[in-house]
Amino acid sequence: MQFSLEARTASLSVGEFAAFASGPRESGGGSAGLWRAQLGQHWHAELRARTLAAAPDARFEVALEEEITHRGWRLTLAGRIDQLVPATGAEPLLREIKSVSHPLPADEAALRTDYPAYFLQLATYLVLRRARREPARGELVFVEVASGLVQTVALSPFDEALVLHQLDAVVEFLQHRRHAGERRRALRFQPPFAALRPGQESIQAGLGAALARASVVLFEAPTGYGKTGCTLEFALGALRSGRFQRLVWLTGKSTGQLQVVRTLKAMSDPRPGNLLRDTPPAALPPGPPASSNPLGYSTPAPAGDPSNPLGYSARGANPGLSGSNNPIGDAAHAAPLPYWQVRNKGEHCVNDVFHCVRDACGFLNGCAERWPGSGLAKFYLAEQAPRDLDALRAAGRAARICPYEITRAALPYHDVWIGDYNYVFAPANRSLFSEQPGFAPAETLLVVDEAHNLPARVADAHSHLARADDALALLAELDHRRAPADLQLAAEQWARLLGRLGSSDAVDAETESAVHDAVGRLAELVMTLPLDYAALGPEHSRTLWQFAALEDFLSDSTLKKLLWVPRPGELAFTCLDAAEAIGAILQSFGGALLMSATLSPFEHTAMACGLEAPGGLASLRAPAPWRDGAYDVAVDLRVDTTLKHRARHSAATAATIESLRASSAAAVAVFFPSYAYADAVLGVLEQRSAALRVAMQPKLPDLAAQAAWVEESLALADVLFLVLGSSFAEGIDLLGGRVTHAMVVGPALPEVNAVQRARMDTFAALGRDAAFRRVYQVPGLQKVNQALGRLVRAPGQKAKVLLHCRRFADPSYAGLLAPEYQMYREITSEAELGAWLGPAR
Ligand code: SF4
Repeated sequence: MQFSLEARTASLSVGEFAAFASGPRESGGGSAGLWRAQLGQHWHAELRARTLAAAPDARFEVALEEEITHRGWRLTLAGRIDQLVPATGAEPLLREIKSVSHPLPADEAALRTDYPAYFLQLATYLVLRRARREPARGELVFVEVASGLVQTVALSPFDEALVLHQLDAVVEFLQHRRHAGERRRALRFQPPFAALRPGQESIQAGLGAALARASVVLFEAPTGYGKTGCTLEFALGALRSGRFQRLVWLTGKSTGQLQVVRTLKAMSDPRPGNLLRDTPPAALPPGPPASSNPLGYSTPAPAGDPSNPLGYSARGANPGLSGSNNPIGDAAHAAPLPYWQVRNKGEHCVNDVFHCVRDACGFLNGCAERWPGSGLAKFYLAEQAPRDLDALRAAGRAARICPYEITRAALPYHDVWIGDYNYVFAPANRSLFSEQPGFAPAETLLVVDEAHNLPARVADAHSHLARADDALALLAELDHRRAPADLQLAAEQWARLLGRLGSSDAVDAETESAVHDAVGRLAELVMTLPLDYAALGPEHSRTLWQFAALEDFLSDSTLKKLLWVPRPGELAFTCLDAAEAIGAILQSFGGALLMSATLSPFEHTAMACGLEAPGGLASLRAPAPWRDGAYDVAVDLRVDTTLKHRARHSAATAATIESLRASSAAAVAVFFPSYAYADAVLGVLEQRSAALRVAMQPKLPDLAAQAAWVEESLALADVLFLVLGSSFAEGIDLLGGRVTHAMVVGPALPEVNAVQRARMDTFAALGRDAAFRRVYQVPGLQKVNQALGRLVRAPGQKAKVLLHCRRFADPSYAGLLAPEYQMYREITSEAELGAWLGPAR
């Protein structure tokens, strides 16, 4: 739907108009995939031939476009009628062909309930024809896809009357968007920080200039910079200026989402003292001369200033953001910010079983009918109504409406959507956003937080695993339920195929061809047969719905793929690289900001996100002068931590840890590439009877428990053993300023396995070194940079870091370290290590 709120015009296809719904949807799980479209085309062609035989002057795919004025809005509706059959002496007949998996013939009332949009679509064509004084009759032709059985339903005047209601609904929605536009223009919000940290002064202008250069911007800023606040400030300003109509903010972790929500709330709350960092403004010493300070850094407050522990500079020092020049807005006029945080569907669920099919869930069945009288529109009409998950679940339970459907219904009325990457990038989840009425990526600013994780997350979202055990269980259930013989036969062949598979790095061509055939056949059957998913239950339904997803995976030419067998009887459909798919999505947005502390090297991130086209990409590195000189780095050339040689050096590794701890006044952090490696070194320390209390990172899924473990270990242990790439190394910010000595035991190159080998083959055209860099070195060093970045999170903090492996000094590795770690000293002996560490404490 495209609309101009100023001109009060909108244009949309007739299909879009008919499908428009401002409430919940009752469709269940599964994915229509490509099959529905393909089968639809098949039956369209078949029925066209039949019509032509009976009426040679019939016309097909007849274009129709008409403008309708309704309640002050001019709506242009356009579409193509499947068949127009002239009739002598009578009104011509308009036919729409609809393929359904519903068994036919069916009760007409049931068809009207299950497929209201089909009736509305044809009725709209009739109304449009009438508007141009070309009245016609209409009939819907339903085709049962599995059998080709046909049922024809003639449209009634009542169907045409419903078009008027739909016009009301669309216009009401447009009025809401108009109101939202006015609200955005009048938006008032506080700056996120009471005082700016050095380096933040120029960031608003920097982001604006970067987005003016290209629609996709890589924005790298160190941990502790205040990325979330700065970017929100920029994004809200862009909403207010009319540059964008919506902000979509994606993060991979719920903690990141909560931080965005907290910041938004603080920015929209005018009460004094509610700024995120309400430090008193401090007088600033003069900054460096302009020539050496092109970005206008201010000077950090002195370390240790108790009134300014995080070292922010005074806001007044920034002429662009203070006093009468302040474009941010006046806190006294703060207005609420309409945002919606989308939690995953399982968290919304209030049913006894998480099985989203109408006949299995009373909160889904009939929810569209209950919606108008439910009062749940308050979730988007009342700006101050609570929107947290508990409120949604309680309201959904009371009204017998699935809480996730409340989220779906409320989203179009909110200007800021906060959620996981999946809602934009995962085929299984993205429809929640992409199918929202009025959602126009071209008018949306997309922010992707922790964007260094995006390529791997999207590749995972495209990947699948099929198990022989699941297939066998499905087969038994299909037999028990007396499912159609075709389906049982195909499921049996699939179970046999999976059962025969032994572990292998890649399936052979013959197996791959058999997999294509089997998946194609099963996807077709699942899409066409009317199956009782409520009786089949959630597990078997998921197994059945997976075939459409597998078929989509196999036929998606934008993905680089591998079919392999990690364990006997398990077939992995692994996406090796989703760059092309990511790039296409990013470029569909009016603006996209990919931000992280570790996006360097930018050319690698660009390639991994499918952004190789020149001109489509800009990059911005946030100035953070307070990090200059904060790290004292050394590379230990004495040891080799490669898999082949690490055991030989483990005694040296253990001894180095002892020396590191001896020179530090507090606990030290040692980062390992894997648990196994950490365990091995712990064993050596025990053999040496080292008097060290070592806290080994536990496997705790809950972030609060992880944080508690870090706190306790910092207080009670001498050494924390942490694993690079884990949430302890990347998600917990408690080490900043508390750990002054750290060691990284080798670059954390990914494990060599079938997937990495296949990725090397995929990028072979780049040359071996470039492929190795892309597959192993960049991800490995990114983990190192992520972990080290968290040791200095604020001005005044310092860290001594030992990179414990000679590979770190190899230019191909060293060049991938963040700039702060590239000025290092080389350690070639115990004496040099002792000199660098300084006296024992
Ligand atoms: S209540 Fe639960 S099972 Fe029912 S539709 Fe919602 S999420 Fe699915």
